[in-house]
Amino acid sequence: MRLSVLSSGSSGNVTYIASNTGGILVDAGLSCRRIRGLLARIGLSLDDVGAVLLTHAHSDHTSGVPSLVRERNLPVFAAPGVGEKLNAVTVAPGDPLQVSGLEARFFPVPHDAETYGLRLTDGERCVVVATDLGEVTPEVLRWMRGADVAVLEANHDIEWLRRGPYSADLKRRISSPNGHLSNHQAAEAALDLASRGLKDLVLAHLSRTNNSPARACGTVSRALREAGHGGVRVRAAIHGHPTPNIEVGEPLAEPGYVYGYGGGQQLFEVE
Ligand SMILES: [Zn+2]
Ligand SMILES: [Zn+2]
Repeated sequence: MRLSVLSSGSSGNVTYIASNTGGILVDAGLSCRRIRGLLARIGLSLDDVGAVLLTHAHSDHTSGVPSLVRERNLPVFAAPGVGEKLNAVTVAPGDPLQVSGLEARFFPVPHDAETYGLRLTDGERCVVVATDLGEVTPEVLRWMRGADVAVLEANHDIEWLRRGPYSADLKRRISSPNGHLSNHQAAEAALDLASRGLKDLVLAHLSRTNNSPARACGTVSRALREAGHGGVRVRAAIHGHPTPNIEVGEPLAEPGYVYGYGGGQQLFEVE
């Protein structure tokens, strides 16, 4: 299995996940044209996409669905309450969906709309995706455990949110149990997953106002290192720049490996 988070954040979310026989998109919050361009940057095309799976109906996760269906006639799958208006095929939470050589299961997460995470496996390796959730409940954690790679929300730094420009009401909504995950909440979940085989962590849905890749990766990496899990590779996904292709199940990095940030305008160095 391989994956790349093609784009992430409140202006559009798309993740590409592939088995040896095909690939899927998790969410499609950018137009078909933009997704085609992002896929090209990791050496792929829309021919490599066999289906779209939707986590929830918010437009930053679904706005590209009509153009993808129109231009490529791709099948769209979602759990109840998510994709009915987009003519998605409904899949019950927990039920296995076989698509593009992968088995996918939706599991519910707390957010201010009907929202689901995804657990995907090719029979050998496992990827979990959970963005747009207010908290990692024990049930959510159970769904995520044992994954080789997790794409997990790290929306905001709680201090930056508190001191930032948003209204009191919006701040409350973001940090509520039905809002978005903070860097510290992501770090807490990462510690649990790291003790159960996690090798790669991609922090996603970062706020451009209340977070930064350096802040998010710093908070989570530090927590992992201090708990003796310094070998877990931590990356941040950003808007409009695909992460490198991550080979699912690659052995842990050398302990003590420190994620390298580029200087100047560059947010981080891409391998
Ligand atoms: Zn979102
Ligand atoms: Zn959302």
